[in-house]
Amino acid sequence: GPMIEAIGLSKFYGNFAASRNVSFSVPRGQVAAFLGPNGAGKSTTMKLLTGFLAPSEGVAKIGGFDVAKQRIEAARLIGYLPENGPLYNEMTPQSLLQYSGEARGLSSAKLRERMEFVADKCSLKEVWGKSIGKLSRGFRQRVGMAQALLHDPEVLILDEPTSGLDPNQTFQVRDLILSLSKTKTILLSTHILTEVKAVCGRVILINQGRVILDGPVSEMEGAT
Ligand code: ADP
Ligand code: ADP
Repeated sequence: GPMIEAIGLSKFYGNFAASRNVSFSVPRGQVAAFLGPNGAGKSTTMKLLTGFLAPSEGVAKIGGFDVAKQRIEAARLIGYLPENGPLYNEMTPQSLLQYSGEARGLSSAKLRERMEFVADKCSLKEVWGKSIGKLSRGFRQRVGMAQALLHDPEVLILDEPTSGLDPNQTFQVRDLILSLSKTKTILLSTHILTEVKAVCGRVILINQGRVILDGPVSEMEGAT
């Protein structure tokens, strides 16, 4: 079955629907873009998919597990990069990852091995012991990616992974995503069409909380 499934997801704030009856599914191994302008409902829908927010209606499933009812099983499969990266300014990449791994219940041997792996994969060695608050946006984003990857999840949900990065930092993060795309199922949000073309085969277009188009990137180019 699909690795990521939104089944009629809605989120209401009073009468306002940040997400409205959103349905789509992403099969194993696919890299799908969640494309839409600011305020379209991308972050809200991603929080519904990761279990950070409870839906007003609908069901979110990851790897077949209902994120509301089978939280532990779903969380094990999900690596989530939140919108603004890690907010723990006083921590170092090392202390943040140590803390995250312990919170996830990784054994100390496994955690040591995973920290080594993500530090290398996300090119964090030179900032390993520095305060996160003092790092450039590009490094902060890679710390967020390392945190999302720490438990070796099968699914990555990445909220605007290159937003606010300069061209060089953007290239590095895209390169990382491309290398991850060989083994993971990925949903990444963006408001930039070139981002979609650079890394994704599939695009889910969202506006005013609704999915308005869903298909291969080539199909969307014909439609816009
Ligand atoms: P995107 O990620 O596409 O920029 P968001 O999901 O962040 O969009 O927001 C979608 C809409 O929902 C926006 O109009 C936003 O202002 C609104 N919204 C998001 N969170 C809340 C909230 N907690 N309360 C009220 N409105 C919200
Ligand atoms: P809890 O209420 O269990 O302490 P949180 O409020 O921190 O959990 O997060 C709620 C849910 O969001 C978790 O059950 C998990 O599904 C998801 N979640 C939290 N952190 C991450 C993460 N780093 N990667 C993926 N999913 C996460």
